[in-house]
Formats: sequence, C-alpha cells, structure tokens
Amino acid sequence: MAKILVINCGSSSLKYEVYEMPEKKSLGKGLVERIGDAMGKIAQESPKGEYTEETPIPDHRKAMELVRKALTDGKAGILGSMDEIAAAGHRVVHGGEYYAESVIIDEKVLETVDRVSELAPLHNPPNLTGIKETINLLGKKPQVAVFDTAFHQTLPPAAYLYGIPRELYEKYRIRRYGFHGTSHRYVASQALTMLKRSAENTSIISCHLGNGASITAVKNGKSVDTSMGFTPLEGLVMGTRSGDIDPAVLLFLLKRGYTEAGLDTLLNKKSGMLGLSGVSNDMRDIEKAAKEGDKNAQEALDVYACRIRKYIGAYAANLPKTDAIVFTGGIGQNSVSTRAQICGGLEGIGVFLDPKKNEEVGRKAGIISADYSPVTIAVIITNEELQIAIDTYDLAFGK
Ligand code: AMP
Repeated sequence: MAKILVINCGSSSLKYEVYEMPEKKSLGKGLVERIGDAMGKIAQESPKGEYTEETPIPDHRKAMELVRKALTDGKAGILGSMDEIAAAGHRVVHGGEYYAESVIIDEKVLETVDRVSELAPLHNPPNLTGIKETINLLGKKPQVAVFDTAFHQTLPPAAYLYGIPRELYEKYRIRRYGFHGTSHRYVASQALTMLKRSAENTSIISCHLGNGASITAVKNGKSVDTSMGFTPLEGLVMGTRSGDIDPAVLLFLLKRGYTEAGLDTLLNKKSGMLGLSGVSNDMRDIEKAAKEGDKNAQEALDVYACRIRKYIGAYAANLPKTDAIVFTGGIGQNSVSTRAQICGGLEGIGVFLDPKKNEEVGRKAGIISADYSPVTIAVIITNEELQIAIDTYDLAFGK
C-alpha cells in the first residue's frame, strides 16, 4: 500500500489529489487558484471535511507550501505528515518526440521537459515548476512525469506529417503531436473492460469532449490518429478554440491589421462555441439558449456535432473496423442531447444510438447503443489523475 500525490500544475492554478495504491482509492483532492494574483485561494475536500484558505499566493513555491499545510491540517487534513507520501506523479503537457511513455523524473527528464517548452510555452514551464517544488517538498522520493502527448507517439508518419515542406519538420519538429493522451488512454482501457474485449483486434474511437476537445482512433490499444495537432488548437470546435480552419484565413486577417497576439487571442480565446454562439463557452448555456429559440446557439451546436461526425467518419474509414465509440469529458459524460445529435447522423456507418439508454445512462458510465448496433457506443467517466497515480505506482514500485 502506498500513497501517491498527483500534481497537475497550470500557469495560475495547481490541482492535486492523493491516491492509495494499488487500491486506486482517492483519499482527497484540492485546488489552488489565482497563483500570482493579489489574492489566491486553496480549497481541499476529503472524507474528513473541507479546508479552504484565502491568502496571496505569489508563486508555485507558496502554492506547494499551502498544499502541504492543507494536506497535513490537524482537522481536515488528508495525511498525518508528508512522510506518508511514497511518490508523486505529475501531468506534463508536452514530451515532444522524446517520451512515448511515462518516466521516472531525473535531471535528464527535467532538461528535456525544459527543452520541449518551446513547443508548449504556456504549459511546460508551470509543469516544470510544479515538479521542482514537489522535489523541494518530498526530497528523494520517486517522481514520475506523465505526458499528454506520450500516448500519441505511436501515430504513423501518415497521420502526423503535415503537407508542408519536410525541412520544417526536420528543422523545427513541426508535426502533429496530439494531446489529452492520458484521458484517451484511460477511457480506451476502461472501454475494453466494459466491452469485455482485449486490446488486440479492437478499434475504438475515443471522443474527449470537454472545454478542450479531441478525438482519437485507438487500434490494438495504440493511438493511430488524433484530432489535435502541433498545438491543442487543431481539430474539433471547442469551448473557445476554433479547431480546424483554412490557414489562409490567418493570412487574410494579417493583411487587415491583425497582429500575432491578436490572432492568438482570436483563435484560442474568442472562437469556438463562444465565438459562434455569442452566448457562452459553456455547453449548458448554449443548449439552454438554443432551446429558447436562439438561432446562433442552435447553429453552433450543429457545427459542433457536424465536425465531430466528420472526424468519427474519417477515423472509421482508416480503421479496419470500428468496434466502439466512447464519449468522455464534461460534455461527453453529461450532455445527453449532444451525444444524441452526434450519433443521430452516423447510422450510415453502423452507429445506432438507443435514445432510452442514452437518457438512462445520463451522467454515468454505460452503454448507450441499440443491441443491434454494429458499433457499440459507450459513456466512460475519464480520470486523468487516477491514470497518473497508476503510472506513478507502477514505475516507482513495479507492477
Ligand atoms: P471539462 O473541460 O471536461 O471539465 O468539461 C467542461 C465542459 O463540460 C463545459 O463546456 C460544460 O458546459 C460541460 N458540461 C458540464 N456539465 C454539463 C451538462 N450537464 N450538460 C452539458 N454540458 C455540460
């Protein structure tokens, strides 16, 4: 039995959770928000109660100090002392072409994550800071890096090369990397358990539909194609991200006075469901507005589902046979109507939703396809933190 601390460090936030392994039991979790702002906050919940504190949190060092304080709090703490933690696992967004699997962190890994920061300037630096601060806190205890990109390192060149001069790949490593790999890996493996199948000879199309969204084709347990690319901007229409767009649109806008920073904000923060609906980036608000007759909101939902169907169709065409489509992420797990809208156009490729089962499964995990459907449709609750804890335990203490 070992307690594993899972850390997911963002630029201004830090999520953490403690798991008891190999039991896969969560002992509690917390969130530090608004790191770097005038006033920050830590909120932790566990069976022992809730712990919250509002205080200035200038940097991640202070954030980790608060995590230690909350974890070992006499009343609502999750641990008696930090010594109980056996190892820590970290979410790292980009592993470049260096990591196809999770790894024990050493000096070389720290250097590589730093080097790859060029490809993920908003994500890798805070991930690295989180690791260094955890080393300060836990000393020589094993720490593991779990990369969002690792699962997709099995993509063949046919799926990862862009149709641009090869020297751009050779010089700058411009290629499709894919993200959300930890979630796709987790739900694909859960789906195999649900379907009572082994990875061999099974093909799954995994749809992670959250504020960020991506679809992955998984063949024999390996990612063979995925919708996010060089950055997490490519692919599906997301909460505030455009997804696929003709690159000539950017040239057109540059000529009309848009700056590099302006385009970045436009495509990452003001586009997607927010930009299309003019209502919100939150699916619940858009669904409500559409029900009340808002045409732009309805059109946004139509674009959203159409893009997903296109990807599912494209991946089905490149897989030997699609055994299952899996829905996960905040929208995939919760939005019965979005699942119905997506599957509603896929009967032609053997995808038949059972509307009653879709309603009944609701926000739980379960199978929502008709019994006669050649392709099984499943809802799986993703859990990236648990996958990180599993990898950390396996690497630090052997399977
Ligand atoms: P995530 O990034 O996975 O946390 O997912 C966030 C997204 O899930 C947001 O766009 C939410 O609107 C969406 N979401 C959460 N609950 C529901 C729900 N009951 N119905 C529709 N969308 C939901």
